[in-house]
Amino acid sequence: MFTIVERSELNPTVTKLVVKAPLIAKKAQPGQFVILRACADSERIPLTIADQDPAAGTVTVIFQVVGAGTMQLNGLAVGDALHDFVGPLGRPTELEGLKKVAVVGGGVGCAIAYPVAKKLHEMGCVVHTIAGFRSQDLVILEDEFKAVSDRFILMTDDGSRGEKGVVTKPLEELIAAGEGYDEVIAIGPLVMMKFVSLTTKKYNVKTIVSMNPIMIDGTGMCGGCRLT
Ligand code: NAD
Repeated sequence: MFTIVERSELNPTVTKLVVKAPLIAKKAQPGQFVILRACADSERIPLTIADQDPAAGTVTVIFQVVGAGTMQLNGLAVGDALHDFVGPLGRPTELEGLKKVAVVGGGVGCAIAYPVAKKLHEMGCVVHTIAGFRSQDLVILEDEFKAVSDRFILMTDDGSRGEKGVVTKPLEELIAAGEGYDEVIAIGPLVMMKFVSLTTKKYNVKTIVSMNPIMIDGTGMCGGCRLT
């Protein structure tokens, strides 16, 4: 029984569910995902694991309500059980040997950037996090990022919280100021990841992005062949 033990709305369209799944909680690594079904006749939804607590036996997923499947998932309450919750699936993000990393999260992509920042912090890596949102009402995971980041920069496009501007602005300033990152890891909308890559290319900093938005499903049709 994959019971929902906690549910909170992080912003008007993004919901966090903490689900009882002790075996997944014990094994999951950052970058891995689960495939879930809310009810027996629901569509299968692949979601990256946002956090896990092996002691409590729980796994956290964070999702944006975008269609019928996520709307149905969003209708479940604490105490309800998910019909399926399969994982951990996929290959973990490769983080070994990193000593100083800039983690860049954009919007709901921060839900995937967070477990990466957390793991790097646990490994003793210096973590600088830049998180960008359109406006203050969309900000998620601020306290969680602060807890695992040596430096945390919050950006909003309209300047309603943190600093005004998009994530590439402070990223370029930090790199130009001599912060020598082993790697930049960027997770967010495709356009954000494109401009992060163009920014870091100028300084020859290795950059990893998450191609989840082009993934077809979680059953082997990854869509990676569409990448150039
Ligand atoms: P959004 O459009 O609100 O953008 C979030 C932030 O990205 C902005 O505040 C800004 O700081 C940055 N950004 C956007 N355009 C930029 C540009 N041209 N240059 C530099 N920075 C820029 O994002 P959202 O609506 O919260 O997120 C939804 C998107 O995130 C969807 O497209 C979804 O596919 C994607 N997403 C990606 C992943 C992933 O793994 N890459 C995971 C979840 C969601």
